[in-house]
Amino acid sequence: MTDISNKRVLITGAAGFLGSHLCDRFIKEGCRVVGMDNLITGSLQNIEHLFSHENFEFYHHDVSKFVFVPGELDYILHFASPASPIDYLKIPIQTLKVGSLGTHNLLGLARVKKARMLIASTSEVYGDPTVHPQNEDYWGNVNPIGPRGVYDEAKRFQEAITMAYHTFHGLETRIVRIFNTYGPRMRLNDGRALPAFMGQALRGEDITVFGDGSQTRSFCYVDDLIEGIYRLLLSDYQFPVNIGNPDEISIGDFAEEIIKLTGTDQKIVYKPLPQDDPKQRQPDITRAKEILGWEPKVPRSEGMKKTWEYFKSLPEWEITPRSFTSV
Ligand code: UDP
Repeated sequence: MTDISNKRVLITGAAGFLGSHLCDRFIKEGCRVVGMDNLITGSLQNIEHLFSHENFEFYHHDVSKFVFVPGELDYILHFASPASPIDYLKIPIQTLKVGSLGTHNLLGLARVKKARMLIASTSEVYGDPTVHPQNEDYWGNVNPIGPRGVYDEAKRFQEAITMAYHTFHGLETRIVRIFNTYGPRMRLNDGRALPAFMGQALRGEDITVFGDGSQTRSFCYVDDLIEGIYRLLLSDYQFPVNIGNPDEISIGDFAEEIIKLTGTDQKIVYKPLPQDDPKQRQPDITRAKEILGWEPKVPRSEGMKKTWEYFKSLPEWEITPRSFTSV
């Protein structure tokens, strides 16, 4: 594969779950990495190990405001955004701003630096999908004014403005549509199903399944996702590409798997299904297979074990719920 050592890469959302794994990957490839994060949902613990690395630097900055980075940049990967339904409810305006104003600022920076820009889009652009599995040609079924609208519409706008910069300014752009992903460094209290269930198992609380648990998701282990993103960045394909694991499971069965894995003797309790919670989600990854030669390799059983080991290794104060930094 292409040698990108010594390229300079800006990664926004660097202290977050995916951003921190991307920092690790690009450092491993010999790149010079500039991490940026406003630390609202991200945590410096995720990138603590990189601070002593000569090829890593960090800016504590909110990309919704004008972004300045001295020196050259070859690639910009925009991964800054709250990314769980609980976060959108707590910080809806920031969620809208980072996907819209933040993306605009970074596209401007990419133009000045003549850098290639990759944006983190999402399966949420498909909303509560009416086609199954979802391929990239499906336009989606999104409620713009529902609780998820602030994220979904920001991401849809993000795709639109990124394509516009590509067609109008000739900027090199890449769009990845990320499906549910899990692994070490997820925030235990971000409200997502996997950290919620594992956190409950750790604290000896009941496992909260929303609705009747028949809604489905397809979970991709983080290492697989990072590999897909890396390949997309280095490809010459400017249209959206789904990256996810098509191995679909109902949330009820997923909760049972976690109960078995963790050995918790807690029971499942059913809570109301949140508004606009998608009923079914599974990526069609034909395009990723054809264009990137990529498909996921880590089975859920293996990825879940690694994630559980990570959560178990956290200090006690991390396991007890805490709220994120105030805005
Ligand atoms: N979910 C659940 N219990 C929880 C947290 C989430 O049953 O404590 C459900 C949620 O309603 C959704 C699914 O698990 O149907 C996946 O939720 P997550 O927030 O992980 O991802 P998203 O809905 O954004 O795909």
